[in-house]
Amino acid sequence: QASARVVTRFAPSPTGHLHIGGARTAIFSWLLARHFGGSFVLRIEDTDRERSRQEYTDAILESMRWLGMDWDAEPIYQSRREDIYNSYIDRMVEEGKAYYCECTPEEVEAMRETAREAGDKPKYNGRCRARNLGPGEGRVVRFKAPLDGRTGWVDLVKGPLSFENAELDDMVIRRSDGSPTYNLAVVVDDHELGITHVLRGDDHVSNTPKQIMLYEAMGMPVPKFGHVPMILGPDRKKLSKRHGALSVMEYEKMGFLPQALVNYLVRLGWSHGDQEIFGLEELIEKFSTDALTSSAAGFDPDKLQWLNAHY
Ligand code: GLU
Repeated sequence: QASARVVTRFAPSPTGHLHIGGARTAIFSWLLARHFGGSFVLRIEDTDRERSRQEYTDAILESMRWLGMDWDAEPIYQSRREDIYNSYIDRMVEEGKAYYCECTPEEVEAMRETAREAGDKPKYNGRCRARNLGPGEGRVVRFKAPLDGRTGWVDLVKGPLSFENAELDDMVIRRSDGSPTYNLAVVVDDHELGITHVLRGDDHVSNTPKQIMLYEAMGMPVPKFGHVPMILGPDRKKLSKRHGALSVMEYEKMGFLPQALVNYLVRLGWSHGDQEIFGLEELIEKFSTDALTSSAAGFDPDKLQWLNAHY
């Protein structure tokens, strides 16, 4: 049976070193592509110019190589693709799927406040929707979101999820300084790269209905989405340094075996009986998103030490 080629991606923001949480989602995406003989691509999400640094990009790629991951093309950089995003935005405006809006941030805040007082979801009230404004100083471009119905998907990890469209705002897709916003750039890139499966942290669940609306408005196929729960500390709080969780680079410096770290991270949130030790080839062969667990996994530094000693 012919099946579409699987293409997955990892899309780090180069604002810090590769942390074990990010490494784990990268490994899952990589395993999914390798399992199906597909491709794995890297996208550097460096649109935040203040916080993004080339040295972090280099360090993230270095950590990924050390873990044993490879990618199938040169990484792409969002900061170099503004013209591409703009051509999609302009087309949406031409087709009446997006519009220029001249409301100031203060006015939008006042609209939200009015909605809040009325007990409604705080959102932009659509004042510029039908005004047919053209480009102009200080104007943003907003997406004309559907006013009713629901947007949903069957999440590869969490099962069926859906949101009321009325809950979602006419999101800004181009800021007043001309830069595209995050959700627009991600959709354009995932489409242009031919991504079939998006695996990412579940802190992105609320972005997914917005992204699906954009795919649908632009008439583009929607990829499959899987949202992986965050790694928690033994106290069930968000994982941080105080739990003994470090960046990948620090584990490398401490002399950990990359295979042991990969093995540990994959087993954290991927059930496969009680086997503890897996080789990389075996992980590729056995990997399936069906076995990704939807509940958050707790980080256990002792278990990692144990694996490292027994690898
Ligand atoms: N750059 C985003 C992050 O680091 C990832 C976005 C995505 O995977 O869609 O959280």
